Amino acid sequence: MEERDPKSIRTQSFPMSGGDGTHSYARNSSVQRGGIFNTMERIRDAVVATLDTRKHFKKVVRIADFGCSIGPNTDSVKNILDAVKIKYQQENNMNNPEDLEFHVFFNDQPDNDFNTLFKTLPKNENCFAAGVPGSFYGRVFPRNSLHIRHTSYTLHWLSRVPGENIGEPNSEAHKEQFKKDMENFLEARSEELVPGGLMIVLGLCFSDGVPYAQTLKGFVKEIFLGCLIDIAESGVISEEKARSFEIPKYFPYFREMKEAIERNRSFSVEMIEEIEKPFEDGSISHDLIVSMYRGLYHGFMAEHFGQGLVDELFDRFSKKLTEFPLDDFVKTTNDRECVIVLKRNAL
Ligand code: SAH
Repeated sequence: MEERDPKSIRTQSFPMSGGDGTHSYARNSSVQRGGIFNTMERIRDAVVATLDTRKHFKKVVRIADFGCSIGPNTDSVKNILDAVKIKYQQENNMNNPEDLEFHVFFNDQPDNDFNTLFKTLPKNENCFAAGVPGSFYGRVFPRNSLHIRHTSYTLHWLSRVPGENIGEPNSEAHKEQFKKDMENFLEARSEELVPGGLMIVLGLCFSDGVPYAQTLKGFVKEIFLGCLIDIAESGVISEEKARSFEIPKYFPYFREMKEAIERNRSFSVEMIEEIEKPFEDGSISHDLIVSMYRGLYHGFMAEHFGQGLVDELFDRFSKKLTEFPLDDFVKTTNDRECVIVLKRNAL
C-alpha cells in the first residue's frame, strides 16, 4: 500500500462552542444524546457478537472516540466498555471482568475544549483517559494500535468548504468532498486498528431519493439563509457576505454512505442499518432548534460576520422559525441515522 504523509491531510477546524454555558455544545446536544441512547442496545449486541477477544486482545483494551467534542455524550464509550466486558467474560471464563483495563483516547481538533471534557469525565477506576488532538481525516494513532474505535455525529463535517457552489448546501462539490474525506478517514482508521478490531459509526443521513428541501435540515437551512438575506437587505452586511457564508457539511444519502464504506476493502461490514430518528412528540421545539444551531454554528458565524451580528441573526431566526408549525414537518421528515459496525480484516 502506498505510504501516505499524514501531514498532507490539511483540514479546517470548526470546534463546537466550549464550556458549559447557555450556548455550549454540552448544553445543546440533547438530540445527539437521544440518538446515542436509541442505538446503544444495537451497538452493544453487535460488539458482543463480532468481537473476538481471544486472538488479538490483551488485558488492556485500547478504545478511541473520534470527534468527541466536549464529551456530553461519553455514554457511548461506556456502552462499548460494557460490551467488551460481557464478551471477555463469555470467551475467557474471566470471573472478574474488573481485571480488564481500558485505555480510552478522546480525539478532536486541537482547538476543541478538551479542558471541559476532562473536567467532566465520569470517574472509572479501570479506565485511563487521554486526549489526542488532530484531524481524523489523517492518521492520529500509530499503526495497529487500537482495538475499537467509535465515532458519532462527526462524518457529515467535511475537512473543508469545497470552495465552489457557495450557498448551495449539499451541492455536487460537497458530495465529492465527502467521498474524498470518507476515503481518507477509512484508510487512516484501517491502519490504526489491529486485525479483528472494530469500527463503530453512528451518523446522520437522508433516505435515498428524498430531495434536500424536503428534509428537516433543508427546511431549517432555507429559513436561516432567508434571515441572512434579510439582514443584508437592511444594509448591515453585503449580500455577497451573506451568500458566501457556508458551513463545510454534507449529509449523505444512506446509499452514498454505504458505497463509501464498501469502497474500502480493509473492512468487512458487520452491520449497516438506516434507522429512523427518535423524534417523539414535542421532542423538537423551536427553541431547541435555535439553541442547537447556536451551539453548533456560533463560532463560524462570529468568524465570518463578527460577534455583533450573531445575536441579531439568532433573534431573527428564532422569530421566523416560530411562523412555521414544526410538528407536522417533524412527523413527515426523512432525516435518518445510520449505524455501522465494521471489522478490520486480517492483514
Ligand atoms: N461525538 C460527539 C460530538 C459530535 S459534534 C457527539 O456525538 O455528540 C462533531 C465533533 O467532530 C466536533 O467536536 C468537531 O470538532 C469534531 N470534528 C469535526 N471534524 C473533525 C476532524 N476532521 N477531526 C477531528 N474532529 C473533528
